[in-house]
Amino acid sequence: MDTCIFCKIILKEIPKYYIYEDDSVVAFLDIHPTQKGHTLIIPKKHSDTFLETDDAVLAHSACVAKKIGKALKDAVGADGVNIITNNGLAAGQIVSHLHTHIIPRFIGDGLMHWPGGTYSSGEEQDIAEAIKKSL
Ligand code: 5GP
Ligand code: ZN
Repeated sequence: MDTCIFCKIILKEIPKYYIYEDDSVVAFLDIHPTQKGHTLIIPKKHSDTFLETDDAVLAHSACVAKKIGKALKDAVGADGVNIITNNGLAAGQIVSHLHTHIIPRFIGDGLMHWPGGTYSSGEEQDIAEAIKKSL
């Protein structure tokens, strides 16, 4: 993908602070960190979202996220870490090349999570059934 900003990062066309690299993934610091040390892991082979990515690449990315998550937590003295992917514009994905965010978190850092809602009567079962049917 000629125009993909993260493919350019993989090709080292854009200088970045790389954290880790192997045959299938690269990790580097996010340019606008939610917290200092906020890291992104991306597959070297372009895919738009988590949902289109090869299972083996996802499994490997999860292992790398675990390794980097531990290292990052120790390096910045964080109390916790968010490991997340945004998939699709509606889910907050701006860059259409799968990336896993690793964000160090601190007790009382003030970052808010999405709110919890409720189901109306019978709705929970209907939705669970619809998802199961779609699997
Ligand atoms: P998204 O909202 O798509 O899940 O997150 C995209 C992330 O990529 C953002 O946190 C943004 O700061 C980061 N980002 C976008 N462009 C660049 C870039 O050129 N270099 C780096 N290092 N991070 C970028
Ligand atoms: Zn790409």
